Amino acid sequence: MTQPLVDPFQRAITYLRVSVTDRCDFRCVYCMAENMTFLPKKELLTLEELDRMCSTFIRLGVRKLRITGGEPLVRRDIMTFFRAMSRHLDSGALRELTLTTNGSQLERFAADLYAAGVRRVNVSLDTLDEEKFARVTRWGRLPQVLRGLDAAQAAGLKVKLNAVALKGFNEDEVETLTRFCATRGMDLTWIEVMPMGDLGNEDRVGQYWSMKDLRARLAESYTLTDLPESTGGPARYVRLEETGQKIGFITPLSHNFCESCNRVRMTCTGELYMCLGQEDMMDLRPALRNHPGNDGPLEQDIRRAIGLKPEGHDFDYSRQRADGQVSRHMSHTGG
Ligand code: SAM
Ligand code: SF4
Repeated sequence: MTQPLVDPFQRAITYLRVSVTDRCDFRCVYCMAENMTFLPKKELLTLEELDRMCSTFIRLGVRKLRITGGEPLVRRDIMTFFRAMSRHLDSGALRELTLTTNGSQLERFAADLYAAGVRRVNVSLDTLDEEKFARVTRWGRLPQVLRGLDAAQAAGLKVKLNAVALKGFNEDEVETLTRFCATRGMDLTWIEVMPMGDLGNEDRVGQYWSMKDLRARLAESYTLTDLPESTGGPARYVRLEETGQKIGFITPLSHNFCESCNRVRMTCTGELYMCLGQEDMMDLRPALRNHPGNDGPLEQDIRRAIGLKPEGHDFDYSRQRADGQVSRHMSHTGG
């Protein structure tokens, strides 16, 4: 029997988020600069390498796999990878295969995703106003994403919307987005914006708006009941009594849930980040590339990395830059 992954604080690591590309067909103002330089393709793990990595984690006890990016659905042949992962769902080793996407390619891929065993998707959408959508994503077009949502629901995928809360941008859309989700039977989660790198973002979109204020705004129109459930991540949930909807609030760098943290993140080049709020990582690519056909060294490195998972990141603000920036882009570690 393979020993499962347990970190020094007795937390079982059962959830892996994998970024499969750093590229994207959008340039959201809070995530990327307009002129991004992407990694040379040879730096990226190939689809076969991604398969080997993920399969090793699954052998070591990972039960939930979330594919992200960049935009995961712009990676060439990504459906080959999803189809390959579905064998772990079939065997029962993996309980959930899911993804976070900007929705632009869902019209094309929703049915294939369902066929590969995906049952839920998170779609990021910050506004329902076409002009604002074009402004915040720079390159995105709202109707394409809305068609993607339709396609996803038609294919049988359960959709959750993720919206980044931006002061002066979508403050006035709390009700509209809530109603949009209620009509379509979708859950909605708000994410607090994190200041990331230098995005060359001079316009006023992207100001911090706290979850506390957003919650207060929601409470003006709805009765909120706190839900006790925790997913092992930094999300808190409430139910809106009037609609029965579940609304989530994510404060990415909150540390309220560190004690139950069950996740690690892998970049598209094979770097494993044990904690979103810290810079410590282990590069798993050498173990993978230097030992083709032998997963032993990779397993060892994964175990060593998990052995370094910090208790939390509450004492770590000194490691971020003085202005509170995390130097990595979200598209690097995957949101
Ligand atoms: N491209 C896909 C998407 O947009 O859903 C997946 C990758 S994206 C990096 C994952 C999530 O991170 C998205 O929901 C996005 O809104 C969020 N995100 C990106 N930059 C962020 C930031 N600076 N602060 C908070 N959330 C951010
Ligand atoms: Fe692309 Fe997602 Fe980043 Fe927007 S948030 S630029 S869609 S990776």
